[in-house]
Amino acid sequence: MINPLFKKIVEIFDSFPDIGPRQSWRLLFWFVKQEVKFKNKFLSYFQLLIEKLNFCQKCFMPTIEENICSICSDPDRNKSKLCIVARETDLITIENLKKYRGLYFVLGGLILPFENKNIIKERMKILEDRLINDRQIKEIILALPFTKEAEPTKKDLIKLISKFNLKFKIPRRGIPTGGEIEFIDPETLKEALEL
Ligand SMILES: [Zn+2]
Repeated sequence: MINPLFKKIVEIFDSFPDIGPRQSWRLLFWFVKQEVKFKNKFLSYFQLLIEKLNFCQKCFMPTIEENICSICSDPDRNKSKLCIVARETDLITIENLKKYRGLYFVLGGLILPFENKNIIKERMKILEDRLINDRQIKEIILALPFTKEAEPTKKDLIKLISKFNLKFKIPRRGIPTGGEIEFIDPETLKEALEL
């Protein structure tokens, strides 16, 4: 009989995105072979993450012990530019280009059929309020994935942003459709975002 604790841990790995049951078992057996020091570090970091996790009240990027993230509170960032991304990983990808100096807004995903995506609708409402109230914003860059499934979200956002008198960039140039932001090569992405 397979140990019930092993099964429970494998179930957790299995619920991670892009991880299947086979990989989950591999991860478990890899983990049990690591040094105790590593295992404790793993646990303590995750414990800290759980205890101190917050979300930036302006851009919704996860933060630790802060209400406003280090990007939104950085006085040197260009507050007239707002780049809208679907996912946190897209923000990381754009930051890693080291070219964009404006601010961000993280939607938290995409509006997909058959999925309850109230969180995204809520965030769009918050985005609208921000555009009404934040007079510093002059330019919007819509950096959603270049995929078919991003189209309904893109459409809703274009409708929302068109209500405001703002400079509005929808990157297209050079990017083949079907591209997730994180898989586009940095040079192409820089060019598309006009950074
Ligand atoms: Zn922020």
